[in-house]
Amino acid sequence: MLTLALSKGRIFEETLPLLAAAGIECAEDPEKSRKLILPTSDPGLRIIIVRASDVPTYVQYGAADLGVAGKDVLIEHGGANLYQPIDLNIAKCRMCVAVQNGFDYASAVRQGARLRVATKYVEIAREHFASKGVHVDLIKLYGSMELAPLVGLADAIVDLVSTGSTLKANNLVAVEDILSISSRLVVNQAALKLKRERITPILEAFERASNKNA
Ligand code: ATP
Ligand code: MG
Repeated sequence: MLTLALSKGRIFEETLPLLAAAGIECAEDPEKSRKLILPTSDPGLRIIIVRASDVPTYVQYGAADLGVAGKDVLIEHGGANLYQPIDLNIAKCRMCVAVQNGFDYASAVRQGARLRVATKYVEIAREHFASKGVHVDLIKLYGSMELAPLVGLADAIVDLVSTGSTLKANNLVAVEDILSISSRLVVNQAALKLKRERITPILEAFERASNKNA
């Protein structure tokens, strides 16, 4: 049995066409069902539904053989024991620095001010500001980062942006691009050796289908 770890929402939805390219269908909808283990049309492959940030952990420990995780999640996790063979070109967005409209980020940086930055992505934020030589106090949040500058918790946030409508709705503007994000297939290294015959055709089908998203 092969186990594929996916998170609900865009990753699940955008992985379905890749599975279809491998001839695999999942009849159950995780938004409607409360089940966390979903069968597929392939009796040898099941899907487990986990939090986006938990996907690397399930695959790292071999509780899932395969998983789909955003580059953001993989960088924060560290990627130990994970083979990351394919950029699936799904769930694309950008990691950005954003501030409240009217906050002069460029001068704050130029003057060497110590910035308070709220984010869920502390590793990415730490690396980004260190490489620019900007001193920051990082404040770890688990969601709704957009709120932090509005109530004086932080001067800036580091967050994922796709259309920018959430920033706009909260009177924020993106002032710096950190990196572009998409999701990758991750594979447990032992599973890749022990179940190579089962995994290889899936990797090949995903590779072909994801090239079309590039
Ligand atoms: P949770 O909601 O469980 O705390 P999460 O917010 O990280 O986790 P999702 O919002 O489902 O989970 O995001 C999953 C992945 O999709 C992220 O890790 C990221 O790679 C990508 N992603 C997040 N936001 C966007 C977006 N606005 N547009 C495109 N891709 C995104
Ligand atoms: Mg979310």
